[in-house]
Amino acid sequence: SLSDRLGGVFDRLRGRGALTEADVRTAMREVRVALLEADVALPVARSFVDKVTEQAVGQNVLRSVTPGQQVVKIVNDALVEMLGADESELELAVTPPAVVMVVGLQGSGKTTTTAKIAKRLVSRERKKVLMASLDVNRPNAQEQLATLGTQIEVATLPIVAGQQPVDIARRALQAAKLQGYDVLMLDTAGRLHVDQALMDEMKAVAEIATPQEILLVVDALTGQDAVNVAQNFSDQVPLTGVVLTRMDGDARGGAALSMRAVTGKPIKFAGVGEKLDALEAFHPSRVAGRILGMGDVVSLVERAAESIQAEDAERMTARLAKGQFDMNDLRGQLAQMRRMGGLGALAGMMPGMKKAQGALATAGGDKMLIHMDAMIGSMTVKERAKPELINAKRKIRIAKGSGTTVQEINKLLKMHQEMSTAMKKIKKMGGLKGMMAMLG
Ligand code: GDP
Ligand code: MG
Repeated sequence: SLSDRLGGVFDRLRGRGALTEADVRTAMREVRVALLEADVALPVARSFVDKVTEQAVGQNVLRSVTPGQQVVKIVNDALVEMLGADESELELAVTPPAVVMVVGLQGSGKTTTTAKIAKRLVSRERKKVLMASLDVNRPNAQEQLATLGTQIEVATLPIVAGQQPVDIARRALQAAKLQGYDVLMLDTAGRLHVDQALMDEMKAVAEIATPQEILLVVDALTGQDAVNVAQNFSDQVPLTGVVLTRMDGDARGGAALSMRAVTGKPIKFAGVGEKLDALEAFHPSRVAGRILGMGDVVSLVERAAESIQAEDAERMTARLAKGQFDMNDLRGQLAQMRRMGGLGALAGMMPGMKKAQGALATAGGDKMLIHMDAMIGSMTVKERAKPELINAKRKIRIAKGSGTTVQEINKLLKMHQEMSTAMKKIKKMGGLKGMMAMLG
């Protein structure tokens, strides 16, 4: 990750007054590699690095932070700024029906995203929504949307066989007006690659439907090609925003930066799964953290804050800031994991967690959380505060007391060790507070 990479550079930079051009250039080489690894398109990465280099050279290293932290902060801030500092929602304040048109390559997630947005508008804003599929190319595309509509209880335009997209759009608009819908969602045909006939069709639909929003749906795993896709669509229709799908996968989110740079439009949502509620507002600061490879610590903290008592959170934050993590902390975390929907929900959100999770998964997943709670329950107060006291003899006692095995105790200790290491890593980066400040 970038933080590992920069670690070496930082050590070399440590203890100097101002960031020199040579220092910054060295660091920026690493930043560039990290951006490319996160799938930021090459020209975008290049111009980003140039911009940040200019900003960073000559900046004084603050007393309270290391040069490394300072560079990460500068890079992170620039990244957040470029990704769009504000969260951006749909702008549908017009005389109804407001039209939202969804465009993009085939398989990017247009139909799914159409249904997800509709569901969100219905449940959060109490809008009356009609969906219509204009995809006459892919067999059963219109039925696919109708099925999703049934699932989420959102109306879809009745299918008329043989009708062309522009005519469907016209009929949809009329139905939406006559039946008093607030929002009309138009799901368009996919393209495997940019194809002029389909582009013309898309333009014709945009002309008659005059959408308030034209959203380009892009798969976050698109990689280097993302810029071309964005450029092509952006040249043809007046895009108003981007939706990045499959952010639940391995994608580091570099496509977000490319999209922003090329279209100049905000990223309005992130798709985070196949389920129809797996749509989130786009959080530039989180994605910046992900691109820089620092783990999604911010969202972890946010979610933790939702589910634990405020004072628990404060205590935990204070301990984490000091890099402390004993068995009591682990027990608290385990209870929280259970409250937050098990281990799956937490996977990969934090540096070091993936390994720990692997150990747990092999041990039988969420049932193991309950066993672990029992094991910690069988430890003495001293053992909980200082797990390194737990020798072979004590392990046998704890296993007996909790109805588990020494092997399981070993797994628990291993997991504690790994999480503790992760906490120390965070501390090294200036503590959770420093990390939060860096992430904006
Ligand atoms: P379209 O061809 O652009 O209309 O794409 P679809 O909406 O039919 O989606 C193609 C596939 O991608 C389907 O299997 C969807 O369930 C899946 N998909 C869409 N969005 C996401 C997402 O955010 N995460 C994941 N994991 N899968 C998604
Ligand atoms: Mg589709």
